[in-house]
Amino acid sequence: MLNRIFNLIFPRICLHCGANLKSNEDLICANCSENLVFRKGDLCPKCNAVLKSNKCEMCDEINYAFDKAFSAFKYSKVIKSLVHSIKYNEMKKVGKFLAVYMAKYWTNQVNITDIDYVIPVPLHKVKKRMRGYNQAKLIGEHFAKLMNFNFESSLIKRINFTKTQTKLTKLQREKNIKNAFEVSNARKIKNKKILIIDDVFTTGSTVNEISEILRNFNADKIYVLTAARA
Ligand SMILES: [Zn+2]
Ligand SMILES: [Zn+2]
Repeated sequence: MLNRIFNLIFPRICLHCGANLKSNEDLICANCSENLVFRKGDLCPKCNAVLKSNKCEMCDEINYAFDKAFSAFKYSKVIKSLVHSIKYNEMKKVGKFLAVYMAKYWTNQVNITDIDYVIPVPLHKVKKRMRGYNQAKLIGEHFAKLMNFNFESSLIKRINFTKTQTKLTKLQREKNIKNAFEVSNARKIKNKKILIIDDVFTTGSTVNEISEILRNFNADKIYVLTAARA
């Protein structure tokens, strides 16, 4: 009953195109979900970027500290709508929705089962206050549950920095990221196989910074999984 009243006030519409959802559809309509196809093809065995004549332009630029990165989807408009969904009542649903797909992707296309911990990319406190939640944490928590992996939500913490990123030069910004994280329990990292979860992989600088820290504390294997790849 409550649900029906709720649906009358807030009709269930597709997060992306706004079409009315059928009873068997959730968050996005069937049309839009056709857009959700797992990434395949000639991808870099390390960072998962699309190879160009067998070369990885990303790995040419950056010496990533992680062992392997994976992204389930290409960053399409539909994914963008999901990832940037700021509807408070939908955010948990979106996290779970993406986690289900990512678990399918991990099982079918990656299939690395030897994982000690799943950790989320921590969100800066100010951002968290604005959005009210950490999407990576929501996704990671549910993904770990589905995969039967351990989840460590606060192994890596973000250190507050006072200046907003946008006012800084590119070099200052990079430096800022360089000192953005700290480890809450170093003993949990040594010889461990750790999977970092985030929503979108763009240049990979954030996950790489976390990977460098994990590497410094002698993690055995470092993997990255994101919902989408820009
Ligand atoms: Zn739609
Ligand atoms: Zn690469």
